Amino acid sequence: MSRYLSEKYSSLEAYTPGEQPKNMEYVKLNTNESPYPPSKGVTEAVFEESKKLMLYSDPESLYLRQAIASLYGMEPENILPTNGSDEIINFAFMAFCDKDHPIVFPNITYGFYTVFGDINMVPYEEIPLNDDFTINYKDYLNIGKNIIIANPNAPTGIALGLDKIEEIVKSNPNNVVIIDEAYVDFGGESAIPLTKKYDNLLVTQTFSKSRSMAGARLGFGVGNKDLIADLDKIKYSTNPYNVNRMTSAAGIAAIAENEYYMDNARKIISIREYTVSELKKRGFTVLDSSANFIFAKSDRIGGEDLYLKLKENGVLIRHFTNPLIADYNRITIGTKEQMDVFLKQTDRILKQVIK
Ligand code: PMP
Repeated sequence: MSRYLSEKYSSLEAYTPGEQPKNMEYVKLNTNESPYPPSKGVTEAVFEESKKLMLYSDPESLYLRQAIASLYGMEPENILPTNGSDEIINFAFMAFCDKDHPIVFPNITYGFYTVFGDINMVPYEEIPLNDDFTINYKDYLNIGKNIIIANPNAPTGIALGLDKIEEIVKSNPNNVVIIDEAYVDFGGESAIPLTKKYDNLLVTQTFSKSRSMAGARLGFGVGNKDLIADLDKIKYSTNPYNVNRMTSAAGIAAIAENEYYMDNARKIISIREYTVSELKKRGFTVLDSSANFIFAKSDRIGGEDLYLKLKENGVLIRHFTNPLIADYNRITIGTKEQMDVFLKQTDRILKQVIK
């Protein structure tokens, strides 16, 4: 830390992204990326667009907004594309939260929420999950504070039904409810249609997971047009060209080839079910996932130990040090071949464990 860092950030704990090691090629199952490459139309569109890089991108992202809107049966003014969904979530903290409008979220969820709270000096409360890691939706009814819920939740992968989401939204009409649907295409139910009925609902999604574009950084928010206008104000006050030309072209092309991505999502779901059943045969407890990852613990080896031993053997998964979940690991679903390498290495490691 330099002596120039503002006092207000001196105790800020930054978000720690999953490792992206460069020392060797790993079977990489640690950051919930898609194992499948982007479609041909996307790579072609990016190449074509790269010829126009001397020009700024469209600050309105109009064609992209139109494409996303038509995919979800909305109007362009209901959509705000951003630099990853992290950006729209941060914008929402900036736009709707302050010391008089605190926010609540589950105590086990996406680790960035506390950081967005801290950096924006927003008071937040973390509501404990049930013992089985499900969200008790009743905890959020009539709470009178802003709410953010990842659905499916991360890193548990457990989804909350749309009827429960609607009750939460309905019972907090004077507060904004943000539903982070980063993993919705792997088995969740989207709350986007509810944004037509409730002006306090913001749904966020990303192209990073089901649409194979984590490296392009594209996310978006969907909501009532006034809510989106507020977020747009934040965007124009921070980074008007937040979605670059190539990413915008990639997003439009990905939507044109949506079936390819939805097919891949179906493949990932079936590889997930295979992996879950294989792990259960080996005595693992695996939570019920609706995402492109699973959250699992072994009865024979600790979470950190398994993570470290797999890493030594070229397989990278994600371990969290939070004591509430330290027995568990989050394992991204890759191709069937990648999951077989993971299972084979897990077997080898378990054999070496003396019980
Ligand atoms: N929400 C959740 C629950 C996530 O796990 C992630 C991925 N780290 C994000 C949002 C943000 O993803 P991105 O910025 O790549 O869209």
